[in-house]
Amino acid sequence: MSPYTRILIIADLEGSSGCWSYTASAFLTDEWCQACLEMSRDLNRVVSALFDAGVKTITIKDFHRSGYNMFPELIDSRAALISGYRRGPIFGIGNPQDAEAVMFLGMHAASGSDGFLAHTLTSRIARLEVNHRLLAEIELFAASLAPWKIRPIFFSGCPVACKQAAAVIENINCFPIDKSRGPENFDSSTWRSALAQAAVKSLANHKTIPYEPAGPFNATLTMREGKAAAARLARRWKFEQAGAQIRIQAPICSNCIWN
Ligand SMILES: [Zn+2]
Repeated sequence: MSPYTRILIIADLEGSSGCWSYTASAFLTDEWCQACLEMSRDLNRVVSALFDAGVKTITIKDFHRSGYNMFPELIDSRAALISGYRRGPIFGIGNPQDAEAVMFLGMHAASGSDGFLAHTLTSRIARLEVNHRLLAEIELFAASLAPWKIRPIFFSGCPVACKQAAAVIENINCFPIDKSRGPENFDSSTWRSALAQAAVKSLANHKTIPYEPAGPFNATLTMREGKAAAARLARRWKFEQAGAQIRIQAPICSNCIWN
């Protein structure tokens, strides 16, 4: 089978090479500006390598906080950058165009795990379990792209995030970023080149299939701010609540929502 030529990239900041603290992931701090710069360089290196390898179209979706974290002028202009969020057809992402495969860059581990700046969607959620397993964002993204038959082929983030991705997406190619030794001991240029090479290699990954988890789904969310915050949400959305926890049950498979 020939390598994929139409790629969607979901890009986050926490697992990129310039984000070394919570402050750097926050909005409008000096550290955040530096992190955005390095994230843009990560993306540029990957995107250029993919185009050099024969990829025809690349769409990058910025998925950190506001959705505006990249310097477009630093990124290969052949790629299309989508900033901000879209209501549909895929919630948050918008139109995946004709992408065949998706790559996840700069990702982080799930809420409730010990990865680098681990969270799922928001740090207000201390822990999120679905069917008694921690839910990482890759599952949400990959499942929402499945009705378009888009295959999750590549993932990069901290080692814990990579482990979580590999546990749910069979055969996905993972490339870790190890931040345990601090930014002063991290060679971003070397890491970035290896990241780009690994991404290119994943273009031949035809083993992964669209991620379509079967229901029913039983989700338990623990709010970091405790019982009062959980009660507010539960009242607003008519969820079941017990202490700091909210429970949501969905008896149907994910694709039934779309079909
Ligand atoms: Zn983020």
